Amino acid sequence: MSWWSSIPRRQKTGGTSSAEQTASRTKRSRSKEAVSKRNLQAKTTQVQVISEKSSKRASKRKTSRTRRLDVDKLVEEVYDSMCALLSLTSDLNIPREVSKQIIREIVEMIASEYSSRPSADTILKKAKRNLPALFEHTVSRLLELLKKPTPQQLEYIILHGSKSLIPEVEKLYKLAMSYERHDLIDQLKYTWNTHGPKGMVECPKCGFNAITPDNSCYVCGYVVTEEYIKKALGFDEKFELYVKTASVAELNETLRYGYVLVSEKGVYYPRSQRARTENPILYSIHLNRSEISKIVEEINSRDLQV
Ligand SMILES: [Zn+2]
Repeated sequence: MSWWSSIPRRQKTGGTSSAEQTASRTKRSRSKEAVSKRNLQAKTTQVQVISEKSSKRASKRKTSRTRRLDVDKLVEEVYDSMCALLSLTSDLNIPREVSKQIIREIVEMIASEYSSRPSADTILKKAKRNLPALFEHTVSRLLELLKKPTPQQLEYIILHGSKSLIPEVEKLYKLAMSYERHDLIDQLKYTWNTHGPKGMVECPKCGFNAITPDNSCYVCGYVVTEEYIKKALGFDEKFELYVKTASVAELNETLRYGYVLVSEKGVYYPRSQRARTENPILYSIHLNRSEISKIVEEINSRDLQV
């Protein structure tokens, strides 16, 4: 919220901003009645306008200072209740300047939705209604502000982070491994598999659905073979169906490329646009000898039919 919106409404009506001047010009051209109304208003507020002009800079400074003091006071008022609400208990040993910084941001976010200074009670009520989002904000800030979370802090982060954990999953996994907190890894896995990217094959090492199209795990870095991906996605069945349904031209093209694309949904030829619109993740599978002969057989059988 800008300093402007914190000025009482009464003062704003006497303003002479360029926006208001433009608005007034437009009105003038549209209606005489509007002109007289405007003039009347201008006369009655003349004194106020002059005094505002002369002290414009000073009041701007004063207002932003007042607002800062306002927020500081609000943060002091709600700090303990907000810590309790966000389960930021003392045993987490989060430095006070970090928790204060986070709570200040939350107070500012909430206060910016009100035209006048909200009470501490209003701030807390609003916070209660938006608790999941505030937990996510708190965790994403903790991930930025804490250099290396302690085991207790890591537990808080993983239990409350939800979607905000996704971009940091690799770092969190490593940290949980180093603390040997397998319970937290399970929770992290659940969060990743629920909120992370869809359509990724499960990693045989860490168990996260996180195998990327280059066949390595996004979370633990383990590299799988094409054979593993084929098995995980039921490739053989999908390939049979593909060979039966693709056109001869497409099958010939597939032979030329020597590989196909596969996802949970099916097998596609390498240039397929549909493959890309239907799937967030696609894996390349290079055709082996038996798959090549299946395609050749299919092409030959169709030739015979024609
Ligand atoms: Zn992995």
